[in-house]
Amino acid sequence: MSQSDLEAIHRAPPFSLVIFGASGDLAYRKLLPALFTLACNDLLPEEYVILGASRTPYTDERFRTHIRKGVEEFGRIKPSECDRWPAFAEHLFYQHLQYDAPEDFKALQQRLEALETAHQVAPNRLFYLAIPPSLYSTVVENLGEVGFSQEKEGHFARLIVEKPFGTDYESARALNTHIHRYFREDQIYRIDHYLGKETVQNLLVFRFANAIFEPLWNRHYIDHVQISVLESVAVGNRGSYYDQAGVMRDMFQNHLMQLLSLTAMEPPNEWDATQLRDEKMKVLRAVRPPKDGALRTNTVRAQYRATDGSGPTYRLEPGVDPQSDTPTYAALMLFIDNWRWKGVPFYLRSGKALAAKTTEIYVQFKEVPHLLFEAQGVDLAPNALSICLQPHEGFHLRFQTKVPGAGMRTRDVDMRFNFATTFGDKSLPEAYERLLLDAVLGDASLFSREDEILASWRLIDSILHGWEAGEGPPLTYYEPGSWGPVAAENMLAVDGRAWSVDCFKSYAPG
Ligand code: NDP
Repeated sequence: MSQSDLEAIHRAPPFSLVIFGASGDLAYRKLLPALFTLACNDLLPEEYVILGASRTPYTDERFRTHIRKGVEEFGRIKPSECDRWPAFAEHLFYQHLQYDAPEDFKALQQRLEALETAHQVAPNRLFYLAIPPSLYSTVVENLGEVGFSQEKEGHFARLIVEKPFGTDYESARALNTHIHRYFREDQIYRIDHYLGKETVQNLLVFRFANAIFEPLWNRHYIDHVQISVLESVAVGNRGSYYDQAGVMRDMFQNHLMQLLSLTAMEPPNEWDATQLRDEKMKVLRAVRPPKDGALRTNTVRAQYRATDGSGPTYRLEPGVDPQSDTPTYAALMLFIDNWRWKGVPFYLRSGKALAAKTTEIYVQFKEVPHLLFEAQGVDLAPNALSICLQPHEGFHLRFQTKVPGAGMRTRDVDMRFNFATTFGDKSLPEAYERLLLDAVLGDASLFSREDEILASWRLIDSILHGWEAGEGPPLTYYEPGSWGPVAAENMLAVDGRAWSVDCFKSYAPG
């Protein structure tokens, strides 16, 4: 265990965590497995209470049995590998409730107070909304009305809200206003689990703890940046949700905009939630929304469609309107209007039913100013840095080297750092482990602030409204299992560029 982990335990106070929607998928696959791993790693305090709350009528015992299965299947550390399960299970409780019944929240309050007394846990409380977003307002109101948002002297009350946060600027603003009736901004922890990923945090370490890259991290040395979040799964049984959301709301508003702001931000003065988020906000404010002609040339929207019927077709998915124009893929070319990035294209893309699941940030540096070896007919690929975020985590730096032998033939090679090789397969914490612990510790650095959410919605809304008004490019199609539509390739090809799949290629078998 690292020194900072040890310090974290000493700082983590006794707490109660109430998980609304505890019978659901997120609690089963992510939250409880993450909490068990924290327990096994000695990162939870001696005393804590985890109280699941949802409509399913579990007893404490049945809830524990159900959760144990999830932890065994999905946990980074499983009950069969760590003997702490019996002790952990003693901290797990369940309260059956209806989300819209104020009297059930009074019963929840009595139960929580009784558990806190029995376990000598001070009233440091976290309320996790692991429920469908349509229920957020109702639960927040019931929490507020029963007094759960009030902090007792020297203690805290925090609200953890899952994504998606709103479906557009207006709904996000309205949700913020509603939550602020009860919870102050500093009590609210909005999750974007991408920020909990080790490699995403390591991007900041890479940029700000190494002297050699930061001087190059600007328009003088960087030709362009790509951010790709590609999924191989199709929409499947999420059709009715997805057809309302599409790739822009599902992926761009949150994950891609977060990755963009972390890649482009200025160094904050210190590792502090306010400063970090201030710097990210400056980037979001400086992104120029593609308008008028730029909406047509700098954006791409597409759907997957199997021409020979052998793969999935979006419009035939259950729950999807057969006439739907909802994009399952989008690509954007964005510009950040500030001194550091003026004129540097940031290409962002995301889609479903693609050739592979891979997330990477690709930074291509400018070509050498004078091609010394061109005379020998050698094609020099420019230097590039690939930051691989998932499913494999690492960094690759591409540079030129001489091929041994006569003449001056060059070839590009990769210098690689791979987390799993260096730190071991099991060492990378799950995003939710980090985020849950940070919420207990009151460190909001890796959570989205109100203004960040609104700024990214403003940008996404402007693109969606332009598309709806017919000012964008026509909807195009791509084969499931491909790397996306031809239009997205063309968007880069006009400037002599191409999408990178370096991370995928580096880790692909064979
Ligand atoms: P689920 O659909 O599994 O719902 C969670 C629980 O909410 C259910 O077990 C159910 O509990 C209750 N519920 C579901 N639908 C309704 C309804 N219509 N009315 C009342 N209660 C309902 O959601 P997830 O666990 O997958 O996700 C929870 C939140 O986390 C969502 O906001 C989601 O967007 C977000 N999220 C989830 C991820 C995941 O991997 N699952 C990843 C990222 C974000 P009961 O019937 O017992 O009350």
